Amino acid sequence: MSDCIFCKIIKGEIPSKKVYETEKVYAFYDIKPEAPIHVLIVPKVHISSHNELNPENVDVMKDIHLAANEIAKELGISESGYRLINNCGEAAGQTVFHLHYHLVGGTSMGSKIL
Ligand code: 5GP
Ligand code: ZN
Repeated sequence: MSDCIFCKIIKGEIPSKKVYETEKVYAFYDIKPEAPIHVLIVPKVHISSHNELNPENVDVMKDIHLAANEIAKELGISESGYRLINNCGEAAGQTVFHLHYHLVGGTSMGSKIL
């Protein structure tokens, strides 16, 4: 997707602060952090949202979740706790239409979802 910000970040056309990378996944710090630790985990392949996951492309979710575990460990929040958030669609606040998971932590967030 030539006009997708996250595709450009993955290709290095827009700079980012890399946190973690595998063959299928790229993770970088959010430009506007909402918690002391706020990382975005994205598949390298363009999938516009959670709605677009299907039997052919869903394998990448395994890599995203394992990446989240590794990143949480590396950043020292696997024991204290963290949230893994996906906003799907406008009503959920999705602003970048390339599937991504927010990994947020480093603070006490309480038990409320909204
Ligand atoms: P969404 O609202 O779609 O769930 O999340 C998109 C996230 O991408 C936001 O938290 C926003 O701050 C982040 N973001 C948007 N543009 C950039 C960018 O160019 N670089 C980085 N590192 N993060 C970005
Ligand atoms: Zn993209």
